[in-house]
Amino acid sequence: MAGILFIISAPSGSGKSTLVSELRKQVSGVDFAVSWTTRAPRGSEANGREYNFTTRDEFLRMVEAGLFLEHAELFGKHLYGTARTSLDDARATGHDLLLDIDVNGARQVRQKMPEAVGIFVLPPDPKQLRTRLRNRMRAEGDVDEDELYRRLDEARKEIENFRQYGYILINDILDRAVAQLEAIVLAERFYRNGEPIAYRSRRVLEVAAACLQTNSQERIKPVLEAFGILGDSGQQQLPFGDEPDDD
Ligand code: ADP
Ligand code: 5GP
Repeated sequence: MAGILFIISAPSGSGKSTLVSELRKQVSGVDFAVSWTTRAPRGSEANGREYNFTTRDEFLRMVEAGLFLEHAELFGKHLYGTARTSLDDARATGHDLLLDIDVNGARQVRQKMPEAVGIFVLPPDPKQLRTRLRNRMRAEGDVDEDELYRRLDEARKEIENFRQYGYILINDILDRAVAQLEAIVLAERFYRNGEPIAYRSRRVLEVAAACLQTNSQERIKPVLEAFGILGDSGQQQLPFGDEPDDD
């Protein structure tokens, strides 16, 4: 494809959709692939906007017909997939394409398109992740504790794959994370396509470079430790404990 393929992954509730929607307000020429899913729509979601919602039978028929670029089953019950047509549409316009998909889906895409740019978003710590998930469920009017803990259980497994991504963002302060995401997109356009990035160029390139995984070890260490992934914390369970949320 003429445009750049960006893959963004994160544990559910990290703020990936929020970041992507802010990015799309600020940077033109990035298409967002609307995935297919068998999960039920949340209160504020519309069919064809956040997702194409479908039944399990129909989804499996689409898999059989080879209509997906990638697909995966998450949280032990929902199917999610990216239609090949998303890529075709972006190719036709020459736009960049952004896929918001899980680590399994990202692996499948990378095998087919190794030039894809991977961005992994980390939540600041497990407690804030739980708070964000619960706040979102409250805002959507449906707090489902089983679903909440299924998603928290997946979080650590997802984070363990962070090394497969070229860039790492920590979504702590939203404005900063949005600026970093924007810088990554502009820097990749600059390096790959020679696209000028105006007077801010040096700063943008510095911000993007600081988010490279290879330059992020110190920055992400506390987050990984909090999730029991690095160091000798010895935590086998996610350290959510029973304390109340931060809200
Ligand atoms: P994801 O797409 O990764 O599942 P969302 O974008 O839906 O996550 O965000 C989950 C919740 O966290 C939402 O209620 C959102 O408003 C909130 N949120 C996102 N980013 C931040 C942030 N930096 N600080 C505080 N809350 C945030
Ligand atoms: P949610 O149910 O919160 O919208 O999304 C849950 C997870 O599904 C997120 O990690 C998101 O990245 C992932 N996801 C969304 N669409 C797709 C897709 O098309 N393919 C894959 N593999 N994962 C997806």
